[in-house]
Amino acid sequence: MARSSQKRILILGGTAEANALAAALAGRGDVTAILSYAGRTENPKAPPIPYRVGGFGGIKGLHSYLMDNAIDALIDATHPFAAQMSAHAVAAAEVTGVPLIALERPAWTAEPGDIWTEVDILEQAADALGDTPRKVFLAIGRLHLAAFAAKPQHAYLVRLVDPPREALPLRHVEVLIGRGPFKTADDLAMMRDRGIEAVVAKNAGGPASYAKIEAARLLRIPVILQRRPAVPPRETVETVEATLAWLAGL
Ligand code: NAP
Repeated sequence: MARSSQKRILILGGTAEANALAAALAGRGDVTAILSYAGRTENPKAPPIPYRVGGFGGIKGLHSYLMDNAIDALIDATHPFAAQMSAHAVAAAEVTGVPLIALERPAWTAEPGDIWTEVDILEQAADALGDTPRKVFLAIGRLHLAAFAAKPQHAYLVRLVDPPREALPLRHVEVLIGRGPFKTADDLAMMRDRGIEAVVAKNAGGPASYAKIEAARLLRIPVILQRRPAVPPRETVETVEATLAWLAGL
């Protein structure tokens, strides 16, 4: 009987915020939470709550998962650039009536000294690098590097969580393996040592990957920043505390 009063929560994860929320919910008697990873990294951090890995199979698959697992609340704590998953969450919540909230960190905004060019898609970022060969730090993950193949005049430094299993689609490329959070002093030294002249990044927001932005400011080098993709309207909070308050109010 006690179990039936427990709320069953699905957290769509892959971010530091999702992990922090999982930690806040771990061990609570009134909720059963499960964290969902897409499976993009080879060794995801084992969270302190049960977790599952892999896509649901589109909106229909997520709909079935919510129903089959009697989920009472859906929390979208995916990365701000995981727009497809977020759109699927909105659609599945609408159809099933499962309450949905997004836990999303605010975007970064430019500060004095920042030299930013903001773009919507990475092809525009590649264009913005210009014709003159440059040493470019590509801090955009592994999936969208192909946009820069059309600009072979640049030498690229790519930072990835896992060593690539296949050759990257870039001619002049060096790979750096690292998992955030990153420190400004470390990124500053790394970018200075390698003679980085421009940074390409996504406006992820949050502190974990802000080091490269601060380092670029300190080195007075330009940052080409991809704006966040559009996501269908949904209720959104910015902190774990606000998410817990929303859950308490259900
Ligand atoms: P996406 O384009 O929005 O999602 C593509 C597909 O991957 C989704 O339709 C879904 O497959 C599956 N998926 C995504 N997130 C999932 C999750 N948390 N649990 C289960 N399935 C998930 O997302 P993405 O950009 O590939 O990002 C994938 C994951 O990496 C997300 O969890 C995100 O938080 C994390 N991440 C992304 C970025 C980024 O820059 N995009 C950066 C850091 C971390 P089905 O349609 O089959 O359900």
